[in-house]
Amino acid sequence: MHEESALLEFNCCNCKLPLSENLLSSISRSKEWFRQAAHSDKVYLSKLFNLKYSIEGHDHIPYARFQNGDIAYFCILICQNCNSTNIAVIEFYEMQPARYIAKLQGLTVCDETNENT
Ligand SMILES: [Zn+2]
Repeated sequence: MHEESALLEFNCCNCKLPLSENLLSSISRSKEWFRQAAHSDKVYLSKLFNLKYSIEGHDHIPYARFQNGDIAYFCILICQNCNSTNIAVIEFYEMQPARYIAKLQGLTVCDETNENT
C-alpha cells in the first residue's frame, strides 16, 4: 500500500456512521485547525490522549508526542450525518526507509455545548 492512498477510517463517536478520509490530507489539515485552536484546547487534547504536552513542528504540521516519545498527529473529521466533530490522534512514523506505519491511537468527539466556555 502506498502512503499517498492510506485511508483514515473509523465510526463517528456520536452516531456510529463510518467516516473515512485520506490520511495524509487529514493530517496536513491540522496546519489550519490545530494551530488556530485555543491553547487550553490543545492542553485538553494532550491530557485526554495522555500525550506529553509540547507542540512541535512549528513551521509545518503540528504534532505532540506520546509518553514513549513517538510522534502524535491530530486529525479532525466532521460527521456529515450528525455534524459531530471527531478528533483522532494518529501515531505515524517511518518504520524503514520509505515504509510508514500509521496507527489510530485515540478518538474523541467534541461536545459542541462546551465550545464557548
Ligand atoms: Zn455522526
